[in-house]
Amino acid sequence: MRLVLVGPPGAGKGTQAKRIATHYGIPNISTGDIFRSNVAEMTELGELAKNFMDEGELVPDDVTIAMVRDRLGRDDTEPGFLLDGFPRTVPQAEALNEILDSYDVALDSVLKLQVDDEEVVHRLSGRRICRSCGHTFHIEFDPPTREGVCDLCGSELYQRDDDRPETIRRRLDVYHEQTRPLVEYYKARDLLRIVIGTGAVDEVKARAIEALEQPVA
Ligand code: AMP
Repeated sequence: MRLVLVGPPGAGKGTQAKRIATHYGIPNISTGDIFRSNVAEMTELGELAKNFMDEGELVPDDVTIAMVRDRLGRDDTEPGFLLDGFPRTVPQAEALNEILDSYDVALDSVLKLQVDDEEVVHRLSGRRICRSCGHTFHIEFDPPTREGVCDLCGSELYQRDDDRPETIRRRLDVYHEQTRPLVEYYKARDLLRIVIGTGAVDEVKARAIEALEQPVA
């Protein structure tokens, strides 16, 4: 299974990516997570990415593509992979085709998680993440028992810098301008499957697996 997950920020891509990747026994590759760990470790890549991320802008294609090329070269991707947050532009999608061609493989499906803008703003502005285990809460939909403290490991919860309201709006604009064209791109290649991203996490996962098991409509 070689999968790509697309959708606006806050569609639940990260949450679903983990579950879908576990279901198929494939690695979940999140470019956002790789950038965030580089920022935390203050690597050269992290320093470069941080400014773009804080503004809600995309990290330049050449940097992002090189990072993904490197990641897809590891042995654990042989049985397949799920890409969460990549590609996000048409040039990235074309680079992905080239990378996969060089291994004589191809994508099986592109799953789009559909959530409207109003819901995205609501979800992201209330999102809180555990500094230690990465578990995600929502101050309204899924609050921790003690405010600001992770129920799972007791560590502090934080708000991502790019989950501030002004940055959320910019991320949404970037999505509509640069990432939405990918939906047409993959539809034209008969790879696109659309799943409604609202409802309980397990319901959305079940819908996603069902969509992936059906032939493309
Ligand atoms: P995410 O966790 O997927 O919402 O990504 C967080 C941020 O990382 C984005 O707003 C971008 O600044 C950066 N980023 C993640 N994936 C990509 C990508 N494929 N291309 C460019 N920038 C990316």
